[in-house]
Amino acid sequence: MIGKIDVKEIRGKETKKVATLSLENQYACYQCGKCSAGCPSAPFMDLLPNQVLRLLQLGKTARILETNTAFACCSCFVCSSRCPKGIDVAAVMESLRQLSLRAKLDDFDIKDIEPEELEKIPPILLVGTFRKLSS
Ligand code: SF4
Ligand code: SF4
Repeated sequence: MIGKIDVKEIRGKETKKVATLSLENQYACYQCGKCSAGCPSAPFMDLLPNQVLRLLQLGKTARILETNTAFACCSCFVCSSRCPKGIDVAAVMESLRQLSLRAKLDDFDIKDIEPEELEKIPPILLVGTFRKLSS
């Protein structure tokens, strides 16, 4: 449910932050869906990449941050390479991760992993996970 469209949200601080952090123009998206069609993480996402762009255009950044989409993105850049409008969708996803982490909306807590499982995880995987998914 998108809810009411509000011009204050469209011109809101959070929407501008995504544009500033990603250096991308979300308004260029015309919803062709090519990004989502090629995205290998799409089956695991609450919102598809093109839906994220549409919600950004409507100023619904808070709604996006409630979902797992930015964290489910594996930064493969398929979307960016396919976009006919030249939007670096992967950069938009990264900016949404940054916004989430700045708001302390982490997607990873080491306490959720059992100690015996922790011993089996390669340290480099843990470091990478911390860097990407926690503030
Ligand atoms: S960079 Fe992220 S959003 Fe883009 S295709 Fe890859 S997983 Fe999907
Ligand atoms: S490929 Fe580009 S223009 Fe098409 S839906 Fe995705 S972001 Fe929008």
